[in-house]
Amino acid sequence: MSSEPEVYIDGQYYPKSQAKISVFDHGFLYGDGVFEGIREYNGVVFKLKEHIDRLYHSATAITLNIRLTKEEMAKAVVETLRRNKMKDSYIRLVVSRGVGDLGLDPRKCPKPTVIVITGTISIRAGNATETGVTTMFSWVRRNTVDSTSAEVKSLNYLNSILAKIEANACGVDEALCLESNGFVAEGVGENVFIVKNGELLTPPSSVGALAGITAEVIAQLAAKLGIKLTVTNLTPFMVFTADEAFFTGTAMEVVPIREVNKRQIGTGKPGPVTKKLMAEFQKVIEDPTQGTKV
Ligand code: PMP
Repeated sequence: MSSEPEVYIDGQYYPKSQAKISVFDHGFLYGDGVFEGIREYNGVVFKLKEHIDRLYHSATAITLNIRLTKEEMAKAVVETLRRNKMKDSYIRLVVSRGVGDLGLDPRKCPKPTVIVITGTISIRAGNATETGVTTMFSWVRRNTVDSTSAEVKSLNYLNSILAKIEANACGVDEALCLESNGFVAEGVGENVFIVKNGELLTPPSSVGALAGITAEVIAQLAAKLGIKLTVTNLTPFMVFTADEAFFTGTAMEVVPIREVNKRQIGTGKPGPVTKKLMAEFQKVIEDPTQGTKV
């Protein structure tokens, strides 16, 4: 093995600097493909099965026929981690439409490209769990569910990137995306929850949000802790008047939101429900039964 980490591409391993795909791959030319971001904690790939199930659902939604079975896909992830002897890594699993011609017709792409990258990710400030993050409602509306909906984890992330660009320009940490009717959908790569009178509320994926795996863990923890969770449309009013708010995501984990459009949420500090769920989430990610051993 070279000193560089290796990247899996279609069953072969390449050193990072040599890991390349064709410029004719429709993942590159058209954003035609699907992906997952997965974490490995202490030698266990967290919720690998759930991520692979979601990858195949995304693929089904865009009629992308992945040639590997789910078991083979899981093996490719685990084997790439083993080869790279990485710990506490972030895994990017990508399946693109594959190489075609310069037209967008997917029928011209006979074979999907499968890529597994293992690395690390850092998308929040180190003290974000203590201070919370600042955020704003973006002018960029989430795509409707009859468009390129964020329900599909596709390689089309410009919608999120435009919102992130706006957040950057406005000097806030993250953007909150609204859907076409003005209901709150999600962050750019996170789901959103609010707390009102000790109860949790979060939007349904029918507003054009991804069904988050971290959000599902939070739902299970809420049930265990006896915290009522309602999945319902959230308005900006409900967010502004919430007692607490937080983001969930594989990369972000669970992070309090302290400000929206310069307005303080609750006390502006991580609230008791958020803190409890962050602590419980930490226990779940440290639990080796919550994933697949490398
Ligand atoms: N929404 C979007 C648009 C995302 O990209 C992500 C990250 N995968 C999430 C929500 C959070 O999902 P998960 O908890 O499965 O990472």
